[in-house]
Amino acid sequence: MAKKAKQIDVDPKMCKGCHICIFVCPHGVLKKSDVVDNRGFFLPVVADLEACVVCRLCEMECPDFAISVVEE
Ligand code: SF4
Ligand code: SF4
Repeated sequence: MAKKAKQIDVDPKMCKGCHICIFVCPHGVLKKSDVVDNRGFFLPVVADLEACVVCRLCEMECPDFAISVVEE
C-alpha cells in the first residue's frame, strides 16, 4: 500500500526559510507561506498533504533538520 503522511511539521525555531524542502519535493506538497514570521522568514507550509508519499526527501535535504514527516 502507498505510504501516506498524517502531518508534516516545520520547527519554526530551526527553519530559516531557505525553501530547499519546497524545491526537492517531487509532489508539490509544500509551498511558501504568505505570512512572514517574526524573524522575517517565509516558512514552508503544507499545500497538499494528500500528495505526500513519505519519501522523506524534504527531511534529508533540509540543512537544519527543521522538517519532519509523520507517517499515517
Ligand atoms: S516526504 Fe517526500 S513527498 Fe512528502 S513532503 Fe517530503 S519530499 Fe514531498
Ligand atoms: S529546507 Fe529546512 S530550513 Fe529550509 S525552508 Fe525547508 S524546513 Fe526550513
